[in-house]
Amino acid sequence: MVLQRNTLSEPSTSSQPEASYIFTHKAVFSELLQKVPCKYCTNCTLVIKQHHLMSYSSNMELLCESCRESYGSVFSSFQEETKNSHDINSKLVSAFLSIGRGQAALETFPSVLNMPTMDRKTFAKCMHNLSGKNKEVKKKMLEMSRQAAREAHVKVDASLKNQEIIDVSVSYDGTWQKRGHTSNLGLGIIIDILSGFVLDFEVLSKYCQNCVVAGRDMGVDSAEFHIWQKGHVDECDKNFDGTSGAMEMHTALIMWRRSLSDCK
Ligand SMILES: [Zn+2]
Ligand SMILES: [Zn+2]
Repeated sequence: MVLQRNTLSEPSTSSQPEASYIFTHKAVFSELLQKVPCKYCTNCTLVIKQHHLMSYSSNMELLCESCRESYGSVFSSFQEETKNSHDINSKLVSAFLSIGRGQAALETFPSVLNMPTMDRKTFAKCMHNLSGKNKEVKKKMLEMSRQAAREAHVKVDASLKNQEIIDVSVSYDGTWQKRGHTSNLGLGIIIDILSGFVLDFEVLSKYCQNCVVAGRDMGVDSAEFHIWQKGHVDECDKNFDGTSGAMEMHTALIMWRRSLSDCK
């Protein structure tokens, strides 16, 4: 069971700087609770019952097995305010993605620890939420990087200081998730030669997991699927239809077209 510190004493929020998790064997709860007498019947028979599993977050109720009095219940992870999802689920998805593993690996992990698993739908939802958060971080990082590159050029040539748009020499390269000209994911990166800072990057995807799953369930030729796809357009991961080899040229085209407006 994964527990978040202090959940019993106070409701946790995402702004708590010390929010962290500990792995706890369930038997440890029983061992600790056996030392505490029930305030209603004085027997040392307090136990924790788990209800409503939300993947790795579960609702835990403290109750007395003798007199059946309940002391209330809490979730083992706090809920993220806007997204209606549990923090521990987002964190675990983020951890597995960071080491390059997906939902299948996240299914193996709890089977070894005898913990509940996370279904495909919840994994996709957590991934979508993380992607939204990362977009904001990406935007801020790029702004900082572009500003630092500009300052490096001004340092070399003070006359550039008041110019809104400056010419810089860049290095451009593309790369793919895997070799063999069949990769579903490709990206292009533009680097300022003088400072070494990344000025822009673009990721292209030929694949969307949600489209594949929905197409399999509804049938790709069904009217139901076409209606679903119209509503899904804004959150579809697929943004490229050509060959993997053409991705490098396409990302260059996208970035050079926006270089004046975005990078100046
Ligand atoms: Zn009792
Ligand atoms: Zn899609």
